[in-house]
Amino acid sequence: MPLTGPGAGLRPVVIGVDVGGTKVMAAEVAPDGSVVSVAHASTPGRRVEVELVEAALTAAVTEVAAGRRVAGVGLAAAGFVDSAGERVMFAPHLPWRGHQVRARLAERWQVPVFLDNDANCAARAETDYGAAVGADDALVITLGTGIGGAVVLDGVLHRGRNGMAGEFGHAQVVPGGRGCECGGSGCWEQYCSGNALRRHVRASLEAGLAAAALLGLAGGDPEAVTGPMITEAARLGDPACLAAYAEVGRWLGVGTANLVAAFDPEVVVIGGGVSAAGDLLLEPARRALAESLVGGQDRVVPPLLRASFGPEAGVVGAASMVREGLGRGARPRLGGRLAGAAAANRATAASRRPRGRAARGASSRRGR
Ligand SMILES: [Zn+2]
Repeated sequence: MPLTGPGAGLRPVVIGVDVGGTKVMAAEVAPDGSVVSVAHASTPGRRVEVELVEAALTAAVTEVAAGRRVAGVGLAAAGFVDSAGERVMFAPHLPWRGHQVRARLAERWQVPVFLDNDANCAARAETDYGAAVGADDALVITLGTGIGGAVVLDGVLHRGRNGMAGEFGHAQVVPGGRGCECGGSGCWEQYCSGNALRRHVRASLEAGLAAAALLGLAGGDPEAVTGPMITEAARLGDPACLAAYAEVGRWLGVGTANLVAAFDPEVVVIGGGVSAAGDLLLEPARRALAESLVGGQDRVVPPLLRASFGPEAGVVGAASMVREGLGRGARPRLGGRLAGAAAANRATAASRRPRGRAARGASSRRGR
């Protein structure tokens, strides 16, 4: 069923969709990267028919389209997307297993559809409108339940042979260390993630360490502790929560040093829910990065910046992918240059580009 009839409405809308394990967020995104309107739906889970998930996506996208003409829809999927941007190979919380998701939905909606994984879309949001605007070489690390990541090299979003580049979370940092959902052990995300933060705080509570501020926020119930409560308690000076951020931040810096040794980026952007803690997390990370990085005294250590985008990173990056693809008159060549950023960036390399939301105006003038 087409989303809209031909010519309905004057200005065609570009829609980005974040397809998470439990919920869908669809949004109309303006050319300057701002979110105009949003619709939500829940994803029915991985044990259901593909049809049910696609019906949920259709409902959310139809709500955002609101009868207007749709220029294209970008999907940011929480799973492995093949290097061609056609299929979702595997998604831990969704039923797609090698399904031709892009073609199925393009056929269903009768509009151009573009597909990539959520971490790559988050990286597009940062390179096109956010903290990594102007950087030819950037790493984007997303700290949520686990770790997602993306690599931008010379303006190119690097996808790898299987479309699986940037899966930093499962790099082994402690041989024989903590078991991981991936089947391995000692993976980085077991030490540096929202889960790792909560595990550290729980251990402190079980050891009887004072955590009065935290327990106060959780109504005295250690089981009720959430990530945002840990952040708030740390800001209130709760020693157990400060220690947890110091530890997770240290692991962030150590792991980032390994990635910087490999890629030598201009900037490292930290996004995801855990990054909302800001310098509580980033200051210990910056110290550990500087201490751990090879050649640290004789090189420029890249700045470790908090991402400009929060939960809307996926929809903004997905919409950016649509504009890039339509601008080329074809599906995005996913390994292609990001939005002509490199040339625009070199022109301004001498002076530090604006960071964050202030950079959006400059981005939109690139005329994509
Ligand atoms: Zn793992």
